[in-house]
Amino acid sequence: MFDSVRSRLTLWYVGVLALVLVAFSVTVYFLLAAFLYDRLDDHVGTLAEETGVSFIRKMKDGEPETKAAASALDEHVGPRLAAAIFDREGKLIADSPGPANYHIQWLTPDFIPESGLDVYTLPADKASGVERRIGVSNASLDSPPKSYVVVISQSFDLVTSELKWIRLILFLTVPVALALAGLGGWFLARRSLKPVVEMTEQAHRISAENLEQRLPVVNSRDELGRLAATFNELLARLDDSFALQRRFMADASHELRTPISVMRTATDVTLEQERRSESEYRDALKVIDEQAHRLTRIVEDMFTLARADSGRRALQQNDFYLDELMLETARAAGVLADRKGVSIELDELTDIPFHGDEGLLRQMVLNLLDNAIKHTPPGGVVKLSLAQHNGDYNVIVSDTGVGIPPEAQSNIFERFYRVDKARSRASASDAGVGAGLGLAIAKWIAEAHKGQLKLQHSDQTGSTFVASLPSKAEVRG
Ligand code: ADP
Repeated sequence: MFDSVRSRLTLWYVGVLALVLVAFSVTVYFLLAAFLYDRLDDHVGTLAEETGVSFIRKMKDGEPETKAAASALDEHVGPRLAAAIFDREGKLIADSPGPANYHIQWLTPDFIPESGLDVYTLPADKASGVERRIGVSNASLDSPPKSYVVVISQSFDLVTSELKWIRLILFLTVPVALALAGLGGWFLARRSLKPVVEMTEQAHRISAENLEQRLPVVNSRDELGRLAATFNELLARLDDSFALQRRFMADASHELRTPISVMRTATDVTLEQERRSESEYRDALKVIDEQAHRLTRIVEDMFTLARADSGRRALQQNDFYLDELMLETARAAGVLADRKGVSIELDELTDIPFHGDEGLLRQMVLNLLDNAIKHTPPGGVVKLSLAQHNGDYNVIVSDTGVGIPPEAQSNIFERFYRVDKARSRASASDAGVGAGLGLAIAKWIAEAHKGQLKLQHSDQTGSTFVASLPSKAEVRG
């Protein structure tokens, strides 16, 4: 039961409320008791004083002592009180018995003030069995000089019974209030946590197959709404990345199928006849070799990207000269360029020390050069140069090729994206046709070095790619 937030919330709520109510009740009870005792003291004190004053006035008016005392008591003493007037020696002048025929006895000297008025508590006596509060007042006559003691007494039972009632009310109302508050708290907690229950149920239903589903957002401004919205954003990201993975798988299998089917056709056609001439076998093997190369390249590219995605391709950094790397790469690409009748121009470069992954950067420049040569007609020029800009080294590859159509320019860095798929596949026998991964890999390499790769410009006169690499970047790896 305590495993549910709802029960814990309710218990906490009731617990805190119980503490507050008990503290409040105890305080109210004691304040009220003090007030009631004060009022009792006031009552007996004032009455003793007033009765004394009235008794003396009557005597001054000429009434005999006993009669004056009896009528003063009569005038001032109510039914719940007992009263008596004594002279200083303890002789009873007059008395007015209280409930249950209670008569006030002469007091021990402890209970008689020297002068004026005082209030005391009389311990319970055998007859009545209750404690009493007494107001004792001195009253004196000037001529003939004589002193009297007026005593007014009331038992505590009225105050005690009032307090008993208050205790009863508190004992009854506090638990009832707590029970009601607990019930209310339980329903409130249930209501507030209802979206959580709904979210849990909905989250249970979501799996890789239906990642497009979302959690219900009841109120997007409260905490639970924000939680649901955040969870939904997470789902959206997961959905996107699953979709990307699925597309990657579909594209990859598609790309792998083409060379394999070309190879199978070549073998099938060759093996159809019992005997073939040597040149026919050579031609078939050439086709198979080209496709095997193509397969190798696609698989290697996919492997590079997969390791980049999983973060397992750590950069192997070392110090080298960027100008040397560019020179060597241009030389390597020269073979392909010569075959195509395209010339490669490389700027005269000074020594440029650099720190990074030499192998990956070589692949990046080679991919860019490879693309440039592939898309430049014979007689064209591919230029490789380097510029320094705001602490970055800009490796620039420009060509005088066919250019990239404007509508395709934003997609060329996507995986498996090729501008003209139909044309590429039609000429799939050409092992140089890539799978559309070259620029994706080049871009990742630039970004892994805290840099970026951009298509600066492209039209019918040619294209220019710029890879900017921070010269002093703390690259990850
Ligand atoms: P691939 O490995 O198939 O060459 P890339 O990712 O390197 O794929 O390039 C994607 C597409 O961008 C290519 O299909 C190509 O049409 C286009 N492209 C890339 N570089 C150039 C360039 N220098 N000139 C014209 N088109 C280019």
